[in-house]
Amino acid sequence: PAQETVDDASPDESRLQPLIQPWPLAGSIGKTDLGLILAGDGVYVKDALGRSLIDGPAGMWCVNVGHRHPSIADALRDQAMTLTYTSPWYTSNNPARELAQMLADRAPGDLKHVFLTTGGSSAVETALRLMQFYNNVRGRPQKKLIVSRQGAYHGSTYLSASLNGRPRDHDWMDGATELARKLTCPDPFRRPEGLSIDAFEDFLEDEFRTMIEKEGADRIGAFIAEPVQASGGVLIPTKAYLTRMQAVCREHDILFIADEVVTAFGRLGHIFASQAVFGVEPDMITFAKGVTSGYFPLGGVMVSARLFDELRRSNHPDAMFAHGLTYSSHPIGCAVAIRNIELLENGILDHARAIAPYFQERLKTLEDLALVGEVRGIGLMAGIECVADREHNNPLQIDIEVGKRIDRHCQDLGLLVRPLINMCVMSPPLVINKAQVDSVVEILRQGI
Ligand code: PLP
Repeated sequence: PAQETVDDASPDESRLQPLIQPWPLAGSIGKTDLGLILAGDGVYVKDALGRSLIDGPAGMWCVNVGHRHPSIADALRDQAMTLTYTSPWYTSNNPARELAQMLADRAPGDLKHVFLTTGGSSAVETALRLMQFYNNVRGRPQKKLIVSRQGAYHGSTYLSASLNGRPRDHDWMDGATELARKLTCPDPFRRPEGLSIDAFEDFLEDEFRTMIEKEGADRIGAFIAEPVQASGGVLIPTKAYLTRMQAVCREHDILFIADEVVTAFGRLGHIFASQAVFGVEPDMITFAKGVTSGYFPLGGVMVSARLFDELRRSNHPDAMFAHGLTYSSHPIGCAVAIRNIELLENGILDHARAIAPYFQERLKTLEDLALVGEVRGIGLMAGIECVADREHNNPLQIDIEVGKRIDRHCQDLGLLVRPLINMCVMSPPLVINKAQVDSVVEILRQGI
């Protein structure tokens, strides 16, 4: 109720804040309509109203080992007291080297190299710039188009944002439209009417082939895909979709970039999900979020050794990949990531895999609510989609804010929800237990 009062209040100059929140509406910049979170512990956060809330979205799909983990806090402090920072341009540091080796040992196929960044958008941006560099050096300067899908989310930098696939991401923003192409969202729930699941998969592959024919394979540099479209509403593709898209990429010398910013580091029970869950071996994997469980901003791109072999053997071995960030390979971030991976591999991944079926089964029971069109999920991520009319799965256009309203009710009952228009997303810390899953489902039932 306190939140509703703030939301409903008319603009009041005295309440305007210097802090600009991400994704603000023009009319609400500087307004303090967000709940204030003061502390976290395990799967819980505490807000300024004194409420203890289960962190349903784990921050933003990231606090995988849970809040306030003493071992990560120790790693962070120890590294800050040993070496706070050193330039990645003309020096190196031990945590970065050790982390790179750990990642190379765990990534699928020949993804033996990693470029470290500050988060997901910079990881995607790096992957795309690397694709451009790769094709320039190979003498294919026209091979630069990037194919993504409707419903995708790849970030908020200029190029990464150009690949986002929801209309509202583009309505008021410019983008690199000359470089970006979009395919149909592979969401089986909203497939074209009359198509079976198998026919839908054929349709998606054919569409990609038709696009390649129209644009020319010599103009398409990369296909980028989240294995599970996360911010699009936890959209899980049909079984063979990703392997089929990868095969098309290979046929046409198009780099396949798996954006695992959400799906890596345990959300689907594995360090990387591309191969373990979906059977694909991408040319690059972008990651962020769960790599440090949100304790430090860090991301990166795993890169195929084949690409670097080709670059080394090219006619332009002196060409420079003019790309780098001050905080690439940040020693504190890398030390946190190392400890985080150790924790994941010392029981948390096993726990995540063990509890995932219970989490999914229990959430699925919400489908008996009149407002719920579908509950879908995989691992420890799930989307609850509300519809106005279950027979036709119409999205709730009468109230596009329904997710926010459900979140507000759930917060009063002890659960933080990630509202996404007519959807609620659940991706709790991986350490959630059965009793806490029960609470999540019970609160959602009442909240919805
Ligand atoms: N890629 C995916 C799949 C994401 O979900 C996100 C963020 O949610 C990003 C990229 C961008 O990451 P960041 O917000 O860390 O820049």
